[in-house]
Amino acid sequence: MPLMKSWLDSANNPDCPFPLNNLPYGVFSRPGASPRCGVAIGDMILDVTAMEKAGLIRLADKPVLDRPEWNAVMALGPDAWTRLRKLLFGFLADGSAMRSEAERHMVPMAGVQMHLPFAVAEFTDFYAGKNHAQNVGEMFRGAENALPPNWLHIPIGYNGRASSVIVSGTDFRRPWGQIKGPQDEAPRFAPSQRFDLELELGAIVGQPAPYGQPVSVAEADAMIFGYVLLNDWSARDIQAWEYQPLGPFQSKATATTISPWIITRDALEPFRCAGPERVQPLLDYLQEPGPMFYNIEMEVELTPKGGQPTVITRTNYREMYYSSAQQLAHHSTAGSGMRVGDLLGSGTISGAEKDSRGCLLELTWGGKEPVTLTDGQTRTFIQDHDRITLRGQCRGDGYMLGFGDCAGTVLPALDRPFRR
Ligand code: MN
Repeated sequence: MPLMKSWLDSANNPDCPFPLNNLPYGVFSRPGASPRCGVAIGDMILDVTAMEKAGLIRLADKPVLDRPEWNAVMALGPDAWTRLRKLLFGFLADGSAMRSEAERHMVPMAGVQMHLPFAVAEFTDFYAGKNHAQNVGEMFRGAENALPPNWLHIPIGYNGRASSVIVSGTDFRRPWGQIKGPQDEAPRFAPSQRFDLELELGAIVGQPAPYGQPVSVAEADAMIFGYVLLNDWSARDIQAWEYQPLGPFQSKATATTISPWIITRDALEPFRCAGPERVQPLLDYLQEPGPMFYNIEMEVELTPKGGQPTVITRTNYREMYYSSAQQLAHHSTAGSGMRVGDLLGSGTISGAEKDSRGCLLELTWGGKEPVTLTDGQTRTFIQDHDRITLRGQCRGDGYMLGFGDCAGTVLPALDRPFRR
């Protein structure tokens, strides 16, 4: 599909992350004003909360854009999602008769603050990248036991905390936790020294699965409203001591940063691609009815305080072994149901090559092989005041589709973790 032209010049620039083809959904605020729903186009944001109020957008009998989250729109279902996208094309396409109505509700993107685009109902994180699972397994358990025997059959995951999901630009403190190194006789309670990032894609569930009712992979795919970039920050020293037998707990409960714009499944449709060859045949309920992955180029940048940015890895989402639809279908099998606003982390996206690994644990092979930054500094894990930025983009014919930065700075740990 070629670039869809808009009357807004900045949206037609081939390097613009937000052309008419994209139209991602976010929540923004201007200084002193309350947060509202917006759609990114070029270097502007279309204030759809104001447009609904003005009667220009009507998706249901009652307002759904009158709150600082997209959950009510998601709850309307796929027909309404498509209808909204068509309405937006109508306002923003080159030659639109509605141009002046739209122009009146546009805000420059520069200078706004972005907020979480939806209320996160629950958060689940998966472990669905084969290269990542292989590498981490080798480091934690040795080469013979790298890939657990269930890995090629089950999309492995853990139920995380919705309360730790934060939007890009929200800085946070390095966590304290219980740590015991292999040479230590006993554990101690201390700030994490092996604090890491994980490059992931987050899928946003836009339609519920009723309690007690599993969904197929095809149904699961249709339930997904859109995607964000996701950094599943991880304290490796806490993780290594706590993770057996029930998986990560406090090591993953400090922060999960997501990018501020929801890239819709509709926008990503031209970039759909097939997954990898299956090493073992999947059980019927996990088999894919069609291509379920996306060709999304991704990178991670590390910027020390006052220093130069360095891209430390480049990879692609199509490296994953299980798609979000497969994960969602598996997630529903036991009957817990799924909610509008559930967030599913893909798992760390690592390519086969050393410079395409999606976290520092793998990039530095457990801290043994430091990475060198542009200014000559080295890193094994994240240091205080380091800023980590994830980026993602799809390359179309004469345009690109960007996700918007997913960034966060790790601040020093609290001097004392407990107040009394
Ligand atoms: Mn993860």
